[in-house]
Amino acid sequence: MQNMGLLIQRQREYFQKGQTKDLSFRIQQLKVLKKAIFMYEEEIMKALKKDVNKSFFESYETEIGMVLQEINYAIKNIKNWSKPKKVKTPIVHFPAQSHIYQEPYGVVLILSPWNYPFQLAMVPLIGAIAAGNCVMMKPSELSPYTSKIIAKIVKTMYNPAYVAVVEGGIQESQFLLKQKWDYIFFTGSTRVGRLVMEAAAKHLTPVTLELGGKSPCIVDKEACIDVAAKRIVWGKLLNAGQTCVAPDYILVHHTVKKPLVESMRKYIQQFYGTQVNDQFPRIINQHHFERLVALMKEGTIVGGGYHCKNTLQIAPTLMDEVSFEDPLMQEEIFGPLLPVIEYKKWSEVVQHIESRPKPLAFYFFSENKKKQKRVLQQFSFGGGCINDTILHLATPYMPFGGIGESGMGRYHGKTSFETFSHEKSVINRGTWLDIPFRYPPYNYKLGILRKVLR
Ligand code: NAD
Repeated sequence: MQNMGLLIQRQREYFQKGQTKDLSFRIQQLKVLKKAIFMYEEEIMKALKKDVNKSFFESYETEIGMVLQEINYAIKNIKNWSKPKKVKTPIVHFPAQSHIYQEPYGVVLILSPWNYPFQLAMVPLIGAIAAGNCVMMKPSELSPYTSKIIAKIVKTMYNPAYVAVVEGGIQESQFLLKQKWDYIFFTGSTRVGRLVMEAAAKHLTPVTLELGGKSPCIVDKEACIDVAAKRIVWGKLLNAGQTCVAPDYILVHHTVKKPLVESMRKYIQQFYGTQVNDQFPRIINQHHFERLVALMKEGTIVGGGYHCKNTLQIAPTLMDEVSFEDPLMQEEIFGPLLPVIEYKKWSEVVQHIESRPKPLAFYFFSENKKKQKRVLQQFSFGGGCINDTILHLATPYMPFGGIGESGMGRYHGKTSFETFSHEKSVINRGTWLDIPFRYPPYNYKLGILRKVLR
C-alpha cells in the first residue's frame, strides 16, 4: 500500500511538470497505446478467453475493435476539442473577450469491472490521456488475466508517473478510494458505486459512475417479430448476458408472445445450438453461476436450461410465467436467462417502468412511429435503441451513461474528453476603457440597472 501512496505522489509531481498538457504529447501517447494494442492483440484475446471464455470474434468486436475506434477518433479530433472556445460577451462587460479553456483535472483514478475487462478500462483511459491527465487504473480482480495484460501494456509503454496500473482486489480498491484524486471514473455495480461516491465526497472529488441495473426490452404487437427476436437474442447473449446494457427481460404484447418466443428459440438454436459449446462465454465465477442456477428455478423454462458446473457455462434460457415479484425480476440478471413477461394494456408497461429505478438501457421494438415517439417522451433512461439492442453503446458519436441509480456522467468519443476536462471560463478585459457604473457609491444607479437587466 505504501508503494501505491508513493506512486500517487510521483504522479502528482509529474502532472505539475505540465508535459501531459502538451497536445503533441497527448497525441503521441494515444498512438503508443494503439501500437501496443496491435502488438499484444493475441495476448489480449487469449486473456479474455481465459477470464470469461470469450471467443476471439467477440473479443475483437466488443473489446479491441471498440478501443481502436475510440483511439482513432480521439487522435483525429483532439486538436479541435482542446481549442479554447470563443463565446459571446455581455455588452455590459465591454471591452472584453470570453473564452472557455479545456484543462485536465490532474491525477485521475479509473476503477473498472470484469465483464468487458479490456474495453472498460481502456476507453476511459483514452479520454483521460486525450484530456491531458495522469492516470491510475485498477482493473477487476475477477478477470486477472486481462488485468495482467493491461498492466503489462501500461508498464511497457508508459512511465508509471504518467499512467500506472494497480493489480488487486477490494482491499487495494478501498485503499485507492481513501486517497485524494482530481477525478474518479468508476464502472461497476450500483452497490459499489454508492461506496465510491461516499469516498469521493470526503475529498469533494468529482465522479463519473457507470453502473448497472435491469434494462427492459419492450416488444409491441406492431413489431417486426422475427427481426426483433434475432436482435434481442444477439444482444442478450453477447458475453453470455454479462453485459451492463443487455436486455434484462422482455415485456411483450400478449398477442405476439408466442411467435416471439418461437423465433427466439429458432435463433438461439441457429446461433448457439441446443447445448453450450466451447465458443460460448462462461459465467465469471462459481458464486454467480450458482446465483443464476438458483434463479432458473423460478418460472417455467421454455428454451435452454442446460448448465455445466465444470465449465461454469449456462445455455441461453428463456423463462416464462415469471412474475414481477420473483427474485429474477428484483435483481440485475447478468447472465443468459431471459424472462418473457406478457402485457395486455400499455398502462401495465407504464406502471411497471415508472415504479422502478431509471434503467441504464431501454429497448423498444415497434414499427409504429407514433408509439416510438411516445416511448421516448414518456420514459427516462440512460440510452437505448428502437428496433435493436446494444448498438447505442458501440459508437464514438454519442455519449454513453446512466441516469439515477444506473449512473451519472457520460463518456465515449468527445464526451470522454469532456468528462476528463474542466471547462475554465475566462474573461479577458481591455483596460483602455473603464465605465464607472458598477463601482460604489451606487446612489441613483439602481434605476438604470433595473432598466438594463430586465
Ligand atoms: P463491482 O462493482 O463488484 O466491481 C467493480 C470494481 O469495483 C472492481 O474493480 C472491484 O475491484 C471494485 N470493488 C468491488 N467491491 C468493492 C468495494 N467494496 N470497495 C471498493 N471497491 C470495490 O462490479 P462487477 O461485478 O465487476 O461488474 C458488474 C456490474 O457492473 C454490473 O452491475 C454491471 O451492470 C455493471 N457494469 C456497468 C457498466 C456501464 O458501463 N454502465 C459496464 C459494465 C458493468
